[in-house]
Amino acid sequence: MFEKVLIANRGEIALRIHRACRELGIQTVAVHSTADSDAMHVRLADESVCIGPPPASGSYLNVPAILSAATITNADAIHPGYGFLSENADFAAMVVEHGFTFIGPTPEHLRLMGDKIVAKKMAKELGIPVVPGSDGPISDVAAASAVADSCGYPVLIKAAAGGGGKGMRVAATKAALPEAFRLARAEAKANFGSDQVYVEKYLGHPRHIEFQVLGDNHGNVVHLGERDCSLQRSHQKVLEEAPSPALNAEQRKTMGETVCAALRKLGYVNAGTVEFLFQDGEFYFIEMNTRLQVEHPVTEMTYGLDIVREQIRIAAGAPLLLRQENIVVNGCAIECRINAENPETFRPAPGLITDYHPPGGIGVRVDSALYSGYRVPPYYDSLVSKLIVHGATRNECLMRLRRALEEYVIGGIETTIPLHRKLTGAPDFINGNYDIHWLERFVGLKP
Ligand code: ADP
Repeated sequence: MFEKVLIANRGEIALRIHRACRELGIQTVAVHSTADSDAMHVRLADESVCIGPPPASGSYLNVPAILSAATITNADAIHPGYGFLSENADFAAMVVEHGFTFIGPTPEHLRLMGDKIVAKKMAKELGIPVVPGSDGPISDVAAASAVADSCGYPVLIKAAAGGGGKGMRVAATKAALPEAFRLARAEAKANFGSDQVYVEKYLGHPRHIEFQVLGDNHGNVVHLGERDCSLQRSHQKVLEEAPSPALNAEQRKTMGETVCAALRKLGYVNAGTVEFLFQDGEFYFIEMNTRLQVEHPVTEMTYGLDIVREQIRIAAGAPLLLRQENIVVNGCAIECRINAENPETFRPAPGLITDYHPPGGIGVRVDSALYSGYRVPPYYDSLVSKLIVHGATRNECLMRLRRALEEYVIGGIETTIPLHRKLTGAPDFINGNYDIHWLERFVGLKP
C-alpha cells in the first residue's frame, strides 16, 4: 500500500480523498493556489505545497508544479479527483513517467473515452446500445443534414471533446440546422480547443441513468448499480439519486451485466461511469467518465462501501474483494448539490461564510469543505457542499432530506438550498416522475 498520496484537487473532493487516505493509514499532501491557503483540505493534510496563483491554469492545471510537489514531498501516488486534470491522458502518462502511480484508469483508456466519437464507436463495437446518429466526425452542414434526415429531427450537435454540458446545440428542424451546427462548432472550439463535432438524435423525454463500475488489474470488473441524474439545469446535474425510481431489478441486472462484459473486454481498470439516456424502456449510451464522479456518494450510501478506498486499493495493485453476487442495493440515497449561487438566477455568489451549521443525525452525510469564517473564492466551480441522505425506502429518504435541508445553515452567501427545499415538495419529484427536461420547466427556464 502507498505511504503518501498527493491530492491534485481542492474543495470537498480533496477532503473526501484525504478522508479515505487517512482511514487507510496513508499520509496526504495537499496542493493549493494562493487563493486557497486557508482551505480545509490544506488545513487537514499532513503536508501542503502552494502550486501557483488563483486561476486554475496557473495552479490546479499546472502539471510541472504538481509533479514538482509530488517529487519534493516524496509522494507515491497522485489522486486527481474530478474536473481539473482527472481525465487528462497526458497528465496521467507524465505521472507514471515520473515514477508515481496515477490513481485512475490507464492513459490509453483516458484518451479513448476522452473523445466522445471514439468512445461511442468503441461502445457500439463492445455491444452497448448507443444513440442513433453519425458514426464519426461531421465537418459540414451537408453531412450533418444527411445524418439528421436518416435519424429524424430534432437532432443534437455535440462536441467530440465536450464536457460539463458545453458545446451542445439542438436543431429542431432542417432550417435550424446550419445555425446550430455553426454555433456548436464555435462553442466547441472556444471551450475545448477542437471544433470536431458529431450529430445524434435528440431524445425528447429521456432520463439520465449511469452505471458505476470498478475494475482491477486482475481482470475483475463489477458494477455498483445505477444513479439517476435526470434533474439537470443546462445539462448539468443538480440532484442525483440511487437507485433510479424508473428501473426494475431485471433492467438493472441486464444493463449492469452488459456494461461489465464490455469493460472486461476492454481491460478497464479503476473506477468509471458509463452514462446512458433511458427512454421508453431502452438504453442509449452517451459517454463514459473515466474518473470519480461528483455524485459517487449516493452509490456508497446504498451499497455500503467506500469507492475512493477501492480506487486506492486497485491502484496499489490489490484485487477487488467484491463479487457481483454479493453486491446488493440497500435502501435509497439522494444527493443535493449545493452551489454558492442565487437559487433563482443561478448567478455565482462567492463570499464570506458568516455562520455554518451542517445537518446531522441518522442517515445524513455532508461532503463539504466549508467552515464558519471561510471565504468562498470566486475563481472555481460554485459547488460548495453535497448533502447526501440515506433511507430504508425512498419515502423515508425524502422525509429525511426535507428535515436535513431545514437544518442546514450556510450564512453570509446565497446558496441553492432554497431550490432543493422547493424541489422536495414537488409532487412529480416525490413520485419519481421526471425526465432530463423537468427541472428546467420547474424553475421556469423552459415553457
Ligand atoms: P457532457 O460530457 O457535456 O456532460 P453528455 O453527453 O454527458 O455531455 O450529455 C450531458 C447531458 O445532455 C445529458 O445528461 C442529457 O441531459 C443531455 N443529452 C446528451 N445527449 C442527448 C441526446 N442525444 N438527446 C437528449 N439529450 C441529450
